[in-house]
Amino acid sequence: MIKLDLPAIYSALERRYGDLNWWPAKTPYEVIVGAVLTQNTNWSNVELALANFGGPPEPAFIETASIERLIELIRPAGFFNQKARYLKNITAWFKAYDYDVHKVQQRDAKALRAEILAVHGIGRETADSIMLYAFGFPEFVVDAYTKRLLERMGLEPMDYERVKALFQEQMPKDERVYNNFHAAIVINAKRHCRKKPDCRDCPLGGICGKL
Ligand code: SF4
Repeated sequence: MIKLDLPAIYSALERRYGDLNWWPAKTPYEVIVGAVLTQNTNWSNVELALANFGGPPEPAFIETASIERLIELIRPAGFFNQKARYLKNITAWFKAYDYDVHKVQQRDAKALRAEILAVHGIGRETADSIMLYAFGFPEFVVDAYTKRLLERMGLEPMDYERVKALFQEQMPKDERVYNNFHAAIVINAKRHCRKKPDCRDCPLGGICGKL
């Protein structure tokens, strides 16, 4: 199996894109809501849905709002019937911590991840996005762009946990690095490593062997 040098890939991306300072949200709870809404849709639709809240969504509002009202608000994000339920579910989970970020951060990461994954509607990518970007745990987020990048670099298709382990074995367990690495992979996938790759001037061209 090809051995990828992930630190070299990160350095090349960081040199190009710098500190991207993700996630684009004003509060940890807004990250949670965005992580659910972005399932199976693009971010511009999530922004339209978030704008309907007239400011960062409040957990107490989502806890008490009717499903019909929630559906109305999040409609631009698509799959609104199920996403409204998922928002209720993850909000009920957060309520057990009194909506207190610091209480969540006191938990053991492994136990917390298992707990979040047990919430109906929350898969691995969403759970890790919440762990990393809402609560600052060093949990690497894997998405379709990450898998595409690795496959373009010659790796065989791998499942979520294997890709995550690959990153976590090679990279320091550092929340800031995981935050920025995932963000840079997404940005680079949008600018260069698209469905039809545009390798010209890609910061990874030298590593990929495409330049
Ligand atoms: S060089 Fe091409 S294939 Fe490699 S990461 Fe960049 S865009 Fe993707």
